[in-house]
Amino acid sequence: MNTPEPGPVTDDYFRSHLPNQGADGGRQWVYSKSTSGRFTRWRTVLAVGLLAALFAGPFVWVDGHPLFLFNVLERRFIFFGVTFWPQDFYLVAIGLITFIVFIALFTVVFGRVFCGWACPQTIFMEMVFRRIETWIEGDYKARQRLDNGPWTGEKISKKAIKHLFFFLISFGIANTFLAYLIGRDAWLPLVTDNPARHMAGLTAMLAFTGVFYGVFAYLREIVCTTICPYGRLQSVLLDKHSLIVAYDYIRGEPRGKIRKATVAAQPKGDCVDCNLCVHVCPTGIDIRNGTQMECINCTACMDACDEVMTKIDRPLGLIRMDSQQGIETRKPFRITGRVWSYSGVLLALVGVLVYLLVSRPALDVTILRAPGQLFQREADGRISNLYSLEVINKTYHELPVSFRVSEPGALLRFVQPLTIARPGEQTKTMFFISLPAKNIRQGSTPVEIRVVSEGEIIDHIDTSFLGPEN
Ligand code: SF4
Ligand code: SF4
Repeated sequence: MNTPEPGPVTDDYFRSHLPNQGADGGRQWVYSKSTSGRFTRWRTVLAVGLLAALFAGPFVWVDGHPLFLFNVLERRFIFFGVTFWPQDFYLVAIGLITFIVFIALFTVVFGRVFCGWACPQTIFMEMVFRRIETWIEGDYKARQRLDNGPWTGEKISKKAIKHLFFFLISFGIANTFLAYLIGRDAWLPLVTDNPARHMAGLTAMLAFTGVFYGVFAYLREIVCTTICPYGRLQSVLLDKHSLIVAYDYIRGEPRGKIRKATVAAQPKGDCVDCNLCVHVCPTGIDIRNGTQMECINCTACMDACDEVMTKIDRPLGLIRMDSQQGIETRKPFRITGRVWSYSGVLLALVGVLVYLLVSRPALDVTILRAPGQLFQREADGRISNLYSLEVINKTYHELPVSFRVSEPGALLRFVQPLTIARPGEQTKTMFFISLPAKNIRQGSTPVEIRVVSEGEIIDHIDTSFLGPEN
């Protein structure tokens, strides 16, 4: 058994060693035992729902448009059916800040429960890959025996079948990932058309497959314990009021096997030192050593311990969701000042975000004076300036657009006329503004251009008009 055997509560070995680190400093493979119980059942139901949503995401279209698209190459993003352009970066920035505050608040209250219950890495690892592995190679002890044993025909065939499944599922995940990135319609030809015509797309598909396969076949819990930055943040986000998966050491200690002779001689806590909570842990830790950064709050140890408590006729919840304060004082969870203040900040950010989203203009218009140009004197004596115009229609329908210049006597003349902004597209053109020479009183005259759509002024753009100094 490679999973480290837990020592007594005073043993500090875990403080200086990673749970998946051997005595020689190298990696120690974690063989976690399968669990059953109420938390495992709820987690399975949630995982099935989340996996269905994840795989269906790129293929759900509403009114002829995808629900989600994260096209980094074309810089086009669709989130819940709403299109975002690079010009909406401020919304993405505020959205990200809001999300980070939400994560911080959620973690302060519920600890790392997102990792164990909703993170795609854990869901795929524990609910898909680990279950396939267990189905092919057996539970933790059988898997360990197989790995430590010689390369027999049985071992070769089991490993080959397992890795074939791993590769195929990784291929499925890579395709879904690609469909999110380039969209359903661009992805479909990659898998239906002549491969020779899609070498770049197929290379990306294989590269993503390789990454996912490497993560789930080899990296595994290292992603959660070492690589993921969110996991590293636990030490600053959690406090003694946060709800976490916690061992009730007051009830559990002194731990020890149930032996009739010692029951009478020495009182024991409820922990029978069966190590089941350690065997089921996917990151290989012993929760009885206290809160550790490697704990992903998957609650597998809660199910395992509840099973033991049921057998020895003791109350459930020796390992449970509770705060350190709750374990120490037996007082119920309460909302702290820290939680209230994070909630206030979150509420304010959500308010700003909703306001910006609702007031976001349907048309994004940019007007700039053409670079390298001063002014032109026209045949009728008027002075003209050349401008570049960029219009982005963020809606899914055509929008009429026209422009009015505030300056008296001003005329606006397009190089290529623009009266309709096509849905979801960016249109570029150029136009001249000309003014009667007598109206120009200075080298640079401020000019306001009003953007009109569907009979309403939707934007005011200030620019300058260059002319001869009179
Ligand atoms: S599963 Fe429960 S009883 Fe068994 S070692 Fe862990 S805490 Fe103790
Ligand atoms: S200690 Fe318990 S909750 Fe934490 S990762 Fe291990 S099994 Fe999951």
